[in-house]
Amino acid sequence: MKSAFFFSLDLPSREFIELSVGKAKDQRVGFLLQIDIKSGILSESKEVARSNYDAMVEVARECSGSAVLLLSQESGHIGVSHDEIALGRRIEEQGIGFGIVSCDGSRVKILNLPRYVAQNKLLNIDQLEDLIAPSGNLQKLFEGYEDRKAQRKMLRLVAEKYNKGGSALVEAGTGVGKSLAYLIPAASWGALNGEVSVVSTSTINLQQQIVTKEIPLVEQLTGSKIKWALVKGRNNYFSIRRLKLARSQQTQLFNNDRSKQLERIAGWAEKTRDGSLSDMDFVPHQDVWDEIKSDSDVCLGSSCPSFQTCHYQNSRRDISKANLLVVNHHLLLSDSWAKNSDTANPQRPVLPKYKRLVIDEAHNLEDVATTQFGTRIDTDGISRILERFSSKGSGLLVAISNSLEKNPENPELVKIKNSLDENFQSILSSAKESIELLLTIIEEKIHPFVPGSSQTVAMDFPDVDVNYLIVRASERLCSSLENLRKKTKSVRMALEMETTSEPNEHILDLISSENSLEEIVSGVQLVFSGDHQEGSHVRWIEWSSNSKRSNRNLIIQSMPIEPGTTMRNALFSEMDTLILTSATLSTLGSFDFVKTRFGFGSDETDPGSRNLTLTEMMLASEFDFGTRSLLAIPTDFPDVRNSGVLHRERTAEVIAEMARHVNGGVLVLCTSWESLVEITQLLREIPNLKLPILVQGEDTRTRLLEKHMKNSKGVLMGVGSFWEGIDLPGAALRAVIIPRIPFSVPSTPINAARIDRYSSRGEDPFKEFMLPVATLKLKQGFGRLIRSSKDSGVVVILDKRIVSKSYGSQMRDSLPNAEVVSGSWETIRVRLKEFCGLFEPGQ
Ligand code: SF4
Repeated sequence: MKSAFFFSLDLPSREFIELSVGKAKDQRVGFLLQIDIKSGILSESKEVARSNYDAMVEVARECSGSAVLLLSQESGHIGVSHDEIALGRRIEEQGIGFGIVSCDGSRVKILNLPRYVAQNKLLNIDQLEDLIAPSGNLQKLFEGYEDRKAQRKMLRLVAEKYNKGGSALVEAGTGVGKSLAYLIPAASWGALNGEVSVVSTSTINLQQQIVTKEIPLVEQLTGSKIKWALVKGRNNYFSIRRLKLARSQQTQLFNNDRSKQLERIAGWAEKTRDGSLSDMDFVPHQDVWDEIKSDSDVCLGSSCPSFQTCHYQNSRRDISKANLLVVNHHLLLSDSWAKNSDTANPQRPVLPKYKRLVIDEAHNLEDVATTQFGTRIDTDGISRILERFSSKGSGLLVAISNSLEKNPENPELVKIKNSLDENFQSILSSAKESIELLLTIIEEKIHPFVPGSSQTVAMDFPDVDVNYLIVRASERLCSSLENLRKKTKSVRMALEMETTSEPNEHILDLISSENSLEEIVSGVQLVFSGDHQEGSHVRWIEWSSNSKRSNRNLIIQSMPIEPGTTMRNALFSEMDTLILTSATLSTLGSFDFVKTRFGFGSDETDPGSRNLTLTEMMLASEFDFGTRSLLAIPTDFPDVRNSGVLHRERTAEVIAEMARHVNGGVLVLCTSWESLVEITQLLREIPNLKLPILVQGEDTRTRLLEKHMKNSKGVLMGVGSFWEGIDLPGAALRAVIIPRIPFSVPSTPINAARIDRYSSRGEDPFKEFMLPVATLKLKQGFGRLIRSSKDSGVVVILDKRIVSKSYGSQMRDSLPNAEVVSGSWETIRVRLKEFCGLFEPGQ
């Protein structure tokens, strides 16, 4: 027990305690309070138990941060008893503070401070705020500085959560500058306490933006260097050693001639900054990347001659030195999965242990968790593994055989060589036949193959005979792959006995193949039996839309219906500081929807995890949407649900008209690839529309955005990922056109399962699930329009349900506070002309 610290109660707590102790007569009363170290004041008193020490410890277990449990003093007793010391120890183990309070609340003796307060140097929140406040360093650095009160408010909250511990959900509208608001406290905490913080965002591009733009700015503001590292998954990096091998053994490794691509990669490898895929300006073939990527199974670690120059190893060295790790959601969740999963898991943790986590773009987290915590098997992937062994006279077996031939005098090696020839081919043939059998049964009994279609079928086969056939086929596949794994292992072990030279590439390749086979077998077992996932996961099959009749590729997936509970139990509740933030988290002024999706609304708390109390903060955009933006909704437009081509023709006309009004600078956000293609085609057929039309899928996203920014006079057409993360300030974006409300397709297996889940709880799935999802997406789309205080523009929604349906008003109320104009297109046109004339870009 540490020495005593003296604090006092604020008046309401003092009165409350006096009253409670009086009512409890001779019982000892436990109170929970919040402590403010700077002022020395305890406040927010709550009674938690009377004379029941176990109950007090139980309450303490569910608290975090700056909480303190006070026990009322035994009447007539001065000093601290053995019982109190014992209770204090138990409370201290839970990380919160403990103390004794006099019966009238006038005196408090704190015996233990909360762990975070006691162990860490605290941030000076006022000083941090001063950096971005008027007359602070930010104003000194930027001529066009504007005071952003919302940013300061967020910074204070984040810094408080660092000092006291705890969790917060912060919606920060566009222009608030949330990155600075969390990076300044996170970086300062690392500098002060040397403790690691993880900052996660949704894509590698956004990670890049944080480390190239935001972190240097924080360094300028604080005047100190930040030890940061950008963390990517291992398979993003190429291996110097494997690239050399692939170039020297390419005829054995690849079915097709990959020499040109390998030479191109070798040229890039000489110059690359970080050796990762995102530093490449071309996309390598998958089979090539598989052979040259960094892979833990075939990495020699410190025995590798390239260890010192290896990009992957350098990235790990950077991680070990950093106290600010910038990651993406995929990596964050796969790391958490690897740390917590008890099933056979090929992923290994990448991140060190950490307790401080900021999740930016948190609205994307559930989607990433759904794939990251799920299982995906595709028959092409299995075939690729088989081809690694043997394919058209090349492959691993040929390579091993050729190398063994060089030792004809060693009888053991000759024996291994013969066993390769004798047994492998029959096992490989059996595995290929098993795949073919499975494909045939699925195609004939369940889901006919239609080229180009990616329709899905749920994996519950009520027909007992069909079910039996499929389970048998999957078992046969597992058994043949397991045979192959065992055979591979026996060859590898024999080679290990006979090989003295280190390292032996073939042994490493065999280990890698063994691991891949093991992973596939457990995946196939999981998705086809799925017994232990019953009720928590949804399983389905689909044919890959890219595959041809001659080369059908079956995809089988199992995904968690509600991954929020896993995220909360395995990740969120482990954190001392947790900040979840995004520009779009609330619907209708409430966080209820995202809280449910993140697992905060569920009762299924892991017994080992803490309950989390979230501080909620909504910060409206700093931009003047009221005068600088217009939301236009034509009500005489064809109904989007049943007028197909007519709606698309009118949409194309409106796009063309808007593009002329605003002289280009139009972003069209579609809800399906099909509508994107059709509207684009109709738009291109409109005569005399002399504006460039840039379409997602016709070039990389980065190049499309660069081209659009460069001439600022074009129409940019997108779907899916274009609804967010697009930042086109000024003339490049003056109109956003949304042909249809972005409701997700209710019939996809995962949506159907979620809808069922809501219905089974007696909730309205449309109101509680479909509507909030669409509203958040619409908010994201709308948010593309105004990216700086000088931006202005129009959002046109060509789906009249947003005014005709009762839910439409809920959606509109969740959008930024723009002027709304609805009515006939003629009426709208008049207002649009006036409005567009009001603002020139950048005014
Ligand atoms: S250390 Fe490992 S990943 Fe790096 S070059 Fe060597 S084998 Fe490849």
